[in-house]
Amino acid sequence: MSAAPAFRWSWLAGGAAVALLAAFFLVLPEPGTRAARVGTAPGFLIRGARVFDGKRVWPSADVVVRAGRVEAIAVHLDAVNLPVVDGSGDTLLPGLIDAHVHAYGQALADAINFGVTTELDMFTDPALLREVAPARSSLAPVAHADLFSAGWLATVPGGHGTEYGLPVPTLSNPAAADPWVAARIAEGSDWIKIVYEPRGSDGTGPPFPSLDAPTVTALIEAAHRRGRMAVVHISRREAARTVILAGADALVHVFADQPVDAALIESIRSRHAFVVATLSVIDAFGGEPHGAAIAVDPDIAPYLSPEQRASLLPSRPPRIPVYLPAIGRQNVAALHAAGIDVLAGTDAPNPGTAHGVSLHDELALLVAAGLAPREALAAATFLPAVRFGLADRGRIAPGARADLILVHGDPTTDIRATRAIVRIWKNGAAVARRRYACDQTSPECDRNPSP
Ligand SMILES: [Zn+2]
Repeated sequence: MSAAPAFRWSWLAGGAAVALLAAFFLVLPEPGTRAARVGTAPGFLIRGARVFDGKRVWPSADVVVRAGRVEAIAVHLDAVNLPVVDGSGDTLLPGLIDAHVHAYGQALADAINFGVTTELDMFTDPALLREVAPARSSLAPVAHADLFSAGWLATVPGGHGTEYGLPVPTLSNPAAADPWVAARIAEGSDWIKIVYEPRGSDGTGPPFPSLDAPTVTALIEAAHRRGRMAVVHISRREAARTVILAGADALVHVFADQPVDAALIESIRSRHAFVVATLSVIDAFGGEPHGAAIAVDPDIAPYLSPEQRASLLPSRPPRIPVYLPAIGRQNVAALHAAGIDVLAGTDAPNPGTAHGVSLHDELALLVAAGLAPREALAAATFLPAVRFGLADRGRIAPGARADLILVHGDPTTDIRATRAIVRIWKNGAAVARRRYACDQTSPECDRNPSP
């Protein structure tokens, strides 16, 4: 007899924290920093920094930024009539891109405070996307990350994504797929995000219904007909196999229930699909949360907003039984070794993760899984820009948007150096990094966050 699963699926991927934080929905990040700025920042010259340009490492280079874009990069550039930043001993990186978040509240301000200059959202209210989307094509100075988003996700009535109290438009059958996709694109969705969480053949699985495979297939086909990617939330290997064979462009989590097999690797590779790892959230829900350790890192603690601290340190971390951290890392390693693009993504702000800061943890997890540090850096810069069609981001090259971070030390050999942020620029303008007076050593911190 097949019974309800014995384990409790306190789920998410939309973000369990969404319900708690829904009250903050649509609160503008850093009011005043986004609105009135016009024109572009004049520019500067960075001299003698190590540079990771998205693909390769320059041991020492000069970079000129002007009018919001990178103008030139070379081993040596003659003095220009611009302020000079001494980069010796430091490393210049493209602004980081988190390829799986849920943005609301202070997300975009919290993200940029840790050098994440672009967030790729996998489910939020499209009203937020419409509000912030104009900034993506502007080069005006701002103090928030840019947002690209799926908007609403595709799920069945009562399915994952509906539990947060947001008015998610649902669908139930293949005939509804095309109008559903058309409505999302009309709302401004940049791609289509689908949830596929079927019961396993043994009857186990989440206690909520899922879209069926024919409807998922129809959604993927509708997205492709309209020139958009279709990316899919799965948590188990067999669900991943189904959606890859149906033509999904990406898995927005690596599956961590079972080791990947050769046939599935070949299916993903031959279709040129990619995978967003989200090892951060897999560890958090798999019983190996890092939030407490991150929150006491002296390179991080002073810069955590109250929202980030609350998200990193949940009082009751949920546990998802199919999230097995060691299997997740093993699968990331196998996919990467097979030449499949693995992107860095956190699924922030799920419990145990937070916007911006958790991407630095994700980079370290990718290295722990076997990526070289520069491959991990590419997974958070060049690769997401290429795979999501963000032409002027994720690299340091003439013409690229000047979203940059300068860090102490050499993250191309020690990935933890990404946390030692010296400066952050968005659209070529320095971002005043916000420091919070309280840190983990202060018992007053949670009650009296200081601006
Ligand atoms: Zn998610």
